[in-house]
Amino acid sequence: MTRAAPALVIVGASYAGTQLAASARELGFDAPIVMLGEEPHAPYQRPPLSKGVLTGKTAVDALALRGADFFDAQGIDLRLGQRATALDPAARTVTLADGTTLDYGWLALATGARCRPLQVPGSTLAGVFNLRTLDDALRVSDALATATRACVIGGGFIGLEVASALAARGAAVTVVESQPRLLARSFPPAMSTYLADAHRQRDVELVLGHGVRALHGASGQVRQVELDDGRRIECDMVVLGIGVQPNVELARQAGIACDNGILADALGRTSAPDVIAIGDVANMALAACPGAPARARLESIQAANDGARAAASALVGRPQPFEGVPWFWSDQHQLKLQMAGLPMPGDEVVARGDMRADRFSLFYLREGALVASHSVNRPAEHMLSRKLIARRARIDPRQLRDESFDLKTLHG
Ligand code: ADP
Repeated sequence: MTRAAPALVIVGASYAGTQLAASARELGFDAPIVMLGEEPHAPYQRPPLSKGVLTGKTAVDALALRGADFFDAQGIDLRLGQRATALDPAARTVTLADGTTLDYGWLALATGARCRPLQVPGSTLAGVFNLRTLDDALRVSDALATATRACVIGGGFIGLEVASALAARGAAVTVVESQPRLLARSFPPAMSTYLADAHRQRDVELVLGHGVRALHGASGQVRQVELDDGRRIECDMVVLGIGVQPNVELARQAGIACDNGILADALGRTSAPDVIAIGDVANMALAACPGAPARARLESIQAANDGARAAASALVGRPQPFEGVPWFWSDQHQLKLQMAGLPMPGDEVVARGDMRADRFSLFYLREGALVASHSVNRPAEHMLSRKLIARRARIDPRQLRDESFDLKTLHG
């Protein structure tokens, strides 16, 4: 009897999983591919969930990540509503919630991350929402039909995007952030201050430097957020944006090395043979850059896609490690924030443009070389900076600052 060819089994059906399957096929990988998705929906775009889906500008049927016939046409066996519950790297099997066991030749863990829970009394009241999945976004959008006062807990990217969208829908919005400034994990103080002003000018109230002690309700419905100083914020809905935690359970239980995510090299390879980790769950090795971390668990579409491409290249035996410049974006009110590279404390910060006019870039130099940039409504500068950062271009700060100097001349 002939055995079936060993399959690539992908656990997780979002950006990283989908890109891995697509890139593997593009590169000529011809073994069976099975992709398991826990959610009932085919892979969908996530950025609009905290933006257009809430404001009503993006229709749900416009969210598909790939065309309806893509998976069939590529010979990708997409199985939705299927949760993997155990992994046995020695036996090369993965077990599903319904008890089925699948054999694999290669296994990809693209299990993503889930919202950190808010562990205070009242957090399970009706009207308290996470925002991660399409169903979460639809629940928040429905609640907005009747809510007039919203409290967003967490002043990170998700919290601030949601705050912008809720304000655009006409809700009175308060953001509670436990750190003394917004986006402290990603931005230096100058950007945090700029964004705080920008949100306040657009009628979003900010409470900075205060945690949440409890949520209070009436008839099971949330009505107040109690801060750590006893103050209470009235509201009829709460959206949590306090960050995520990687879904490492399958890997950890299988003895695969984890540390803030599943440890992976620049090809997505983990400590277990033929087990790959990509996307939000992967703490992946980065291209060497002086003063920058050797690895990071980047929560971005670019990292998911590029990590998946690198992993696919290894699958077909033509390894191309992931060494691109990380980049991200966020839309808040009319502000298009675009970020490239990973700035570190101590970098020289050079501003170009006018912060008060909401059109500027901050450039970060380390030992004279451009390592990162943050732009607001300056897409051309963002795109250019990605190329310059990749080359570690050494740039005179005076040229960066001088708007009459054409930065394009730096990229020959
Ligand atoms: P995301 O990208 O999901 O928005 P971030 O980590 O960028 O995640 O942002 C989460 C924000 O939530 C951080 O600014 C963090 O300081 C804040 N935060 C975490 N826990 C609390 C809390 N209990 N109350 C208020 N803010 C919180």
